Amino acid sequence: MAKIYDEDNVFAKILKAEIPYEKVQENKYALAFNDINPQAPIHILVIPKNPYTDLYKFTQNANIDEIKYFWELVNDIITKKSIEDKGFRIITNSGKDGNQDVPHFHVHILGGRNLGRMIN
Ligand code: AMP
Repeated sequence: MAKIYDEDNVFAKILKAEIPYEKVQENKYALAFNDINPQAPIHILVIPKNPYTDLYKFTQNANIDEIKYFWELVNDIITKKSIEDKGFRIITNSGKDGNQDVPHFHVHILGGRNLGRMIN
């Protein structure tokens, strides 16, 4: 995984409105949209609007407001989809061993069915 942020990654293009996407919700610092290849009935991605390649970079470099707004949007999605009681899974892939495909930090919110065990 490149250490330098790739300005042409697919989520950077979404943020620049260069490609279509299904927005679920947004706030000042974060955007949530449906995954194009859903792995569960609910599969939503949440991304920061500023450029960070992965969770480590985000936590290391984002300011407290960005971090707060990011996790608030995650919780807003959980509320919006009414999965706070039934349950859900949050995944973030990072780097080569994490099999991260898109090098812009994102969490997957998965739910709407029993998700099985965490790792196959
Ligand atoms: P990851 O392996 O964690 O980097 O996952 C990247 C995710 O982005 C995958 O679940 C893809 O299905 C999803 N994805 C890729 N391109 C798009 C797109 N244009 N709109 C929505 N989701 C996308």
